[in-house]
Amino acid sequence: MTHFPSQVYATRLLKAQQLATAAGTPLVITPGPDLAYLTGIVSESFERLTALVVTDSGFGLVVPRLELAILKDSAVPGLGAAGVELAVLDWVDGDDAYALVLDLLAGASTVAVADALPALHLVPLLDRGLKVHLATDVLRRLRMVKDPAELDELRAAGAAIDRVHARVPQILRAGRTEREVADDIAAAIVEEGHTEAAFVIVGSGPHGADPHHEVSDRVIEAGDVVVVDIGGPLASGYNSDCTRTYALGEPAPEIAEQYALLERAQRASVEAVRPGVTAEAIDAAGRDVLAAAGLGEFFLHRTGHGIGLSVHEEPYIVAGNDLPVQAGMAFSIEPGIYFSGRWGARIEDIVIVTEEGCEPVNTRSHGLTIL
Ligand code: ZN
Ligand code: ZN
Ligand code: ZN
Repeated sequence: MTHFPSQVYATRLLKAQQLATAAGTPLVITPGPDLAYLTGIVSESFERLTALVVTDSGFGLVVPRLELAILKDSAVPGLGAAGVELAVLDWVDGDDAYALVLDLLAGASTVAVADALPALHLVPLLDRGLKVHLATDVLRRLRMVKDPAELDELRAAGAAIDRVHARVPQILRAGRTEREVADDIAAAIVEEGHTEAAFVIVGSGPHGADPHHEVSDRVIEAGDVVVVDIGGPLASGYNSDCTRTYALGEPAPEIAEQYALLERAQRASVEAVRPGVTAEAIDAAGRDVLAAAGLGEFFLHRTGHGIGLSVHEEPYIVAGNDLPVQAGMAFSIEPGIYFSGRWGARIEDIVIVTEEGCEPVNTRSHGLTIL
């Protein structure tokens, strides 16, 4: 992963320390999006423990000696110059890595752990008598509001996935299978600047009515409506996620009419976004448009999800979430309508909350693209 200047991470670490101190629980953060956010370290959790420990008195990193090399490609070497002293405690097979964590905790009995902490490491911590909470409550407050460098990455990711959608008309044709189309789209996702195609949903005809459908060997037919929901990470780790719906040939009047209502619903939710409006009000704005037209029961899921280093993260744009959104948050607005066994459609943009409203990072037309 390419990372930001170490100063960015130093600021994040100090904020995380403030929040952890206020909550009264030190943090134990293992590899995953939280660790990447705080240190620029990108690795997976294996059986050997890697853990960042944040207490009110300082910062420590427990890391297997054979994985010390991953630190070179992170913000860690520059943290000292940026004003954060991070003690690196490396260990070798046979050492007690959990004892190192306990040393850093200096007697604290309750800790908050990353939700990506595997049971493999959680159980030994519990066995040492630690009480454990999730760090999500502390870290989501940090991660939800993006800093300018993160917003630039999300804009770049939006532009990259827009370029892929611009190529879909050359790829999507009657007579090809969903899988053939998806394979070509996956290649385009990488060609347009992502490190991988994290997901490629091609839901044609009746498959479009299943919001969870990914891809199959179904042959796409003339007259199909096709949902294409795609995304992946840039080298920075920040993700794209964008859905457009395509029609192979002029759609039936009923389909065109219902799709136009979906467009109105998506626009209503986008237009509802501004600082201070709750997530549930943004959800309701679009849902009400569909409900008023008798289509409420065909919108089967929440309106959206936050996005950043994870494709799905806080804030969730869903009924019951009374969180007021604030400038710098980024999330999807993706209502859909799903007619079981027949067809479905979804329109998805990522938007960034601004002082006045919001800025969509995806700018391609929302209309049903007729191929
Ligand atoms: Zn399904
Ligand atoms: Zn999506
Ligand atoms: Zn999404």
